Amino acid sequence: MKIVIVGSGYVGLVTGACFSEVGIDVCCVDIDRTKIDNLNKGIIPIYEPGLEDMITRNMKKGRLSFTTDIASALVDAEVLFISVGTPPDEDGSADLKYVLAVARDCGKYINDYLLVVTKSTVPVGTSQKVKKALQEELDKRNVSIAFDVASNPEFLKEGAAIDDFLKPDRIVVGLESERAEDLMKSLYKPFTLNGHPVIFMDIISAEMTKYAANSMLATKISFINDIANLCEIVGADINKVRKGIGSDSRIGNKFIYPGIGYGGSCFPKDVKALIQTGSEHNYDLRVLKAVEAVNDDQKLVLFHKIMNYFNGEVQGKTIALWGLSFKPQTDDMREAPSLYIVKKLLEAGAIVKAYDPIAINEAKHHFGDSISYCDDQYETLIDADCLAILTEWPEFKFPNFKIVQKLLNTAVIFDGRNIYDKKEMKDSGFEYFCIGVDTRI
Ligand code: NAD
Repeated sequence: MKIVIVGSGYVGLVTGACFSEVGIDVCCVDIDRTKIDNLNKGIIPIYEPGLEDMITRNMKKGRLSFTTDIASALVDAEVLFISVGTPPDEDGSADLKYVLAVARDCGKYINDYLLVVTKSTVPVGTSQKVKKALQEELDKRNVSIAFDVASNPEFLKEGAAIDDFLKPDRIVVGLESERAEDLMKSLYKPFTLNGHPVIFMDIISAEMTKYAANSMLATKISFINDIANLCEIVGADINKVRKGIGSDSRIGNKFIYPGIGYGGSCFPKDVKALIQTGSEHNYDLRVLKAVEAVNDDQKLVLFHKIMNYFNGEVQGKTIALWGLSFKPQTDDMREAPSLYIVKKLLEAGAIVKAYDPIAINEAKHHFGDSISYCDDQYETLIDADCLAILTEWPEFKFPNFKIVQKLLNTAVIFDGRNIYDKKEMKDSGFEYFCIGVDTRI
C-alpha cells in the first residue's frame, strides 16, 4: 500500500517513519523546501529519540521519501494523512488554514479514490469542512471522483513518540464508510497484532476524544499544582500527598507530579480550543477555564520564590538555569515555562546563564543573546547566585552536589520539578526550595 503524509513535523515524521518501518510505501510532503531538502540529505529537523535511525534506514530501503510536490506524491496513493499544524487563532480556536489548504490540494490533484485522514488535532466538525473543501475543488474541475474522510487523532508524546506509535495504548479512528474502515484496519494491522486496540467510532466523537484526552491530562496537572500550593501553605508535603492519593487505583499515580505548569505545543492550545468550541455552542467549560488560570499562575511560581529569597531585588544577580525544553527528551520549547520565567527574570534585571542537553539551539531562537548559553550544566554555576531547575532531564537528578556547592556563590537551589529530597539537600548544606513543600520545616 502507498500512503502520503502531509506535514513533516513531529507528528508527520514519526507517522511516516513508523508506517514505513512496517513495510508500507510512504511519501512525506511539506511546503517547507529547506526542511524537505534537509530530510533528503538525511538531516532530521527535530530531536526525537530513535527517529533519525528509523528515517535513514527506511529511506535506504526505498520505502520512505520526501517531497514538496503533493501532486506527484498522490500518484497511486490510497490514503493521505493530514498532519500539519493547527496553531491557536487570536480567539484561542484552532486555525484550520493549513488543514483546509491540504484538503483543497487533494481536490486539485486526485485522479482516483482517496481516503483523507485528519491526524492533526482539529475541533469537532473539521472533517466535514475537509470534505467540503475537497469536493469544491473536484466541482471546479468538473470531475466525479470518490473519496472518504476520516479522523485519526494522534496521541504520541514527544520524547517517546516512536514507542507510542509502535505500541499505542489505543488507536482512535472516526469514519463513515466501510471502505474507509477496511483501509484503516489493514493499515494499522501491524500495530494492533499485539493487542493494541483500534477503537472505531463516528467522526465527531473521534475529534472530541483528542481534546477530551488532552484536557483531562491538563486538568490532572493543574489539580495537583493547586493542591501543591495549598500543601505548602498549610505545612503538608505534596510529595507524600501525591503518593497517598496515587495509590488509589481510581486516581492512579500518573500525571500527578507537581511542577511549574504544563507547556508544549499541545496542552495549552488544545485546552484553549476546547474552551472556544464550548463558547461557540454557548457552553461554558468552567473546569477548563480554571485549569488554564491555575497553569498561567503556576508558570511563575518559581520566579516568585526566587524574588522572595532575594527580597524582591534580583538586579545584577546571576541565575543559573538547568533545563529549558518544556519537558525532558525533546528540544521543543513551544509554551515552555522557561519562556515565561526567563522573561520575568530579565525584566527584573537578573543575568541568566542556561544549560539544556538538547534545546539550546531552539532556545537561541527565543532568547537570542539576552541570556548566555553553557555547554555543560556545571558551567552555568560559575559566579551564579542560585540554581533553578526548570526541566527534569535525567542528568540533573544526581549531580555532584559538592561541585554545585563549590561553584555557586550561595548554596541555594530552586527546584521546579521536585527532583531532590528536602532532607538530603538540607544535610548537604543547601537552602532548598521546591513545589508544594515548605522546606523550612
Ligand atoms: P509541526 O509544526 O512540527 O509540523 C507541521 C508541519 O506542517 C510543518 O513542517 C509545516 O511546514 C507543514 N505544513 C503546513 N502547511 C502545510 C501544507 N499546506 N502542506 C504541507 N505541509 C504543510 O506540528 P506537529 O507538532 O507535528 O503537530 C501537527 C498536528 O498534530 C497539530 O495539530 C498538533 O496539535 C497535533 N499533535 C501534535 C503532537 C505533538 O506532540 N507535537 C501530538 C499529537 C498531536
